[in-house]
Amino acid sequence: MDHTCAAKSIAPPTEFIEGVVVNANAQRPINEDCYTAKLGRAIAESENGVAWLILDRRMRNAALRKSMPGNGRLLLIHCLPALMSILLGSKKARSIEALARKCGLPEQALAQSIASYNDVAHAGGEDPLGKKKDFVKPITRAPFYALNLSTRSKTSPLATFTLGGLVVDEESGAVLKADKSPIAGLYAAGRAALGIPSNFYISGLSIADCVFSGRRAGRCATQAP
Ligand SMILES: Cc1cc2nc3c(=O)[nH]c(=O)nc-3n(C[C@H](O)[C@H](O)[C@H](O)COP(=O)(O)OP(=O)(O)OC[C@H]3O[C@@H](n4cnc5c(N)ncnc54)[C@H](O)[C@@H]3O)c2cc1C
Repeated sequence: MDHTCAAKSIAPPTEFIEGVVVNANAQRPINEDCYTAKLGRAIAESENGVAWLILDRRMRNAALRKSMPGNGRLLLIHCLPALMSILLGSKKARSIEALARKCGLPEQALAQSIASYNDVAHAGGEDPLGKKKDFVKPITRAPFYALNLSTRSKTSPLATFTLGGLVVDEESGAVLKADKSPIAGLYAAGRAALGIPSNFYISGLSIADCVFSGRRAGRCATQAP
């Protein structure tokens, strides 16, 4: 059990993926429109799990308007996390350098990351990290905002669950020792057992695997002498 799935969902609202996610070095580790488990892993593997989502005034205000419950733009399940991040987990500053200082990020590096991103946005070119063109929008209108996406952030939870697990016999689900012989009477299933998603995770892989392995282990346990 040395792997976990760590999923960070930042959209909707879509304005969040128009911004940039930076790590402790103020570098973009990944394209912001990637699958949630890829973004979560990039954040979890960054130095001290530090990550900030940088937005400008237009992006932040549009996201705030969309996230207001009752306006029919987003489901409540999406409104509440977005509002929590915007209202309780953000920093605000008149310049990118000042924002960097508030977040404890290197000023020049953040300014450079935003400038490079803006160059691509203004030119309508290809994002070097592969973000879809529709989401590459310039971050130019002050004030600027940073939403705390770090692993320790209380306003942007990182959904996690274990991957991998005990090595089991493929036919019975019996737990195997290091020499591959079964431990009598001990079975494992679900995410406690080695299964299909043992290294990386794609949505939907888990439930079927858990049901199948639970049924296998239960059937064999009841039939065991
Ligand atoms: C936010 C989120 C979204 C997900 N979305 C999907 C999805 O869309 N599709 C998908 O396939 N998977 C999804 N998953 C993953 C999937 O839900 C889990 O991998 C799966 O539920 C694991 O099943 P399990 O039976 O192995 O463990 P669990 O569901 O964790 O069951 C373990 C049970 O053991 C109980 N327990 C723990 N300790 C003890 C004890 N000492 N004594 C007695 N009982 C104990 C717990 O209370 C729990 O009921 C998602 C997970 C999360 C967190």
